[in-house]
Amino acid sequence: MNQHILIVGGGYVGLYTALRLQRKLHSELRSGQVRITIIDPQSYMTYQPFLPEAAAGNLSPRHLVAPLRRILPKVQILNGRVTKVNHAGRTVTLQPAEGAPREVSYDVIVMAAGSISRTLPIPGLTDIGIGFKTVGEAIALRNRVLHLLDVAESTEDPEVRRRALTFVVVGAGFAGVEALAELEDMAKHSTRYYRNIKPSDIRWVLVEATNRVLPEVGPEMGKWTLEQLRERGIEVKLDTRLESCVDGHVVLSDGSEFDAETLVWTAGVKPSPVVADSDLPLDERGRLKATTTLALAGTRDAFAAGDAAGVPDVTNPGQYCAPNAQHAVRQAKVLADNIIRHLRGQQLVDYRHKYVGSVAGLGLHQGVANVYGVKLRGFPAWFMHRTYHLSRVPTLNRKVRVVVDWTLALFFKRETISLGEMEHPRDGFRAAVETTRR
Ligand SMILES: Cc1cc2nc3c(=O)[nH]c(=O)nc-3n(C[C@H](O)[C@H](O)[C@H](O)COP(=O)(O)OP(=O)(O)OC[C@H]3O[C@@H](n4cnc5c(N)ncnc54)[C@H](O)[C@@H]3O)c2cc1C
Repeated sequence: MNQHILIVGGGYVGLYTALRLQRKLHSELRSGQVRITIIDPQSYMTYQPFLPEAAAGNLSPRHLVAPLRRILPKVQILNGRVTKVNHAGRTVTLQPAEGAPREVSYDVIVMAAGSISRTLPIPGLTDIGIGFKTVGEAIALRNRVLHLLDVAESTEDPEVRRRALTFVVVGAGFAGVEALAELEDMAKHSTRYYRNIKPSDIRWVLVEATNRVLPEVGPEMGKWTLEQLRERGIEVKLDTRLESCVDGHVVLSDGSEFDAETLVWTAGVKPSPVVADSDLPLDERGRLKATTTLALAGTRDAFAAGDAAGVPDVTNPGQYCAPNAQHAVRQAKVLADNIIRHLRGQQLVDYRHKYVGSVAGLGLHQGVANVYGVKLRGFPAWFMHRTYHLSRVPTLNRKVRVVVDWTLALFFKRETISLGEMEHPRDGFRAAVETTRR
């Protein structure tokens, strides 16, 4: 058959599709009849549900990523970004990290490039906003929160202190609520090492344009989460929009204005821009127009799943599958099997999964869950959140490392130092060069 399967994106969908293909097409890969390539700027898959725990310092950042080359020895991994897909010519343009762009040809393409933050043209947002989708962002935020506690402790200027200790999160879905809850918990815990900062000195503001938080766990548990956050002293502003944040001066649609050094933007996602730079079919929301079999509508040899694709939900006619890991992992399985059926000229099957609800961590020993109609809160939900995600994180190697991190955290206090210096490793050397010049 001699087929080259190209997977654009090595996240949830990309990794799990390749894993299954690697296992099921074992002999074809060995004989050279089939080749599989993944293109991704990173050489690892990020287990995003663990980003809040990494930001809180409960997990080492290296333990929530799965190394693609080690897990997929039969798959070629190319690092770079796909900037264009010419499906008519069966080629993509790959922009490697260094050097000139090059064309990569394929026979079958899997679009698994996920999503990016969906932003709005709000004055100041590009200058001070930060997202919460990557390991880099989660660790930068952790360093930032801890650094700003250092700043507040060391200044005599009340304005600088107030601004440093004000943190704003926009968007109260999964990512926003979990990130805020974990960071708040970590900051509160850290104040015990600062003489002049009490937990109540730190201001956390959650801004949400609709009238609810955490819709993923349903209205009842969302309401409970809202009460919990408010009990913890977090200001949750519902039906409120961010209007401006020029130079950190935050203006909200409810009329309030204040200064903040940190603004985290988690108000939704949109498909990776590469989907628009392709000749593949898109739906009205700019997502790849998938059919129920995960093949792209009206095309041959093209498949898509995950956050980048609009996949009709056969369990809920007229609706689409939500962009979450629950669907991404399951879609990857059907996608891999359908590619094999496609190569063998067999009939493709539909993707069918009824959303079962969700679990969310809200800080150490705190959580909320609504899974298969079973509603849990507090410690049991937190325990469920941890055990569920432990069972889901790829590879035994990562599972063991995660358990070791959690076990160490049981016996030793969590780390509360900022390693923000790592983001500017050449500063010290540059200063030394300057001194020599002078
Ligand atoms: C903080 C956070 C917490 C979450 N918690 C949960 C949870 O508890 N439960 C749940 O179900 N879901 C959760 N999600 C959502 C879930 O992680 C996503 O729905 C899932 O990752 C989507 O999988 P994907 O494969 O489509 O995209 P991703 O896993 O994001 O993978 C996309 C990959 O494509 C690569 N890529 C992008 N553009 C290009 C390009 N041009 N060329 C090549 N490669 C490219 C990216 O580098 C990335 O590796 C969470 C998300 C976040 C951010």
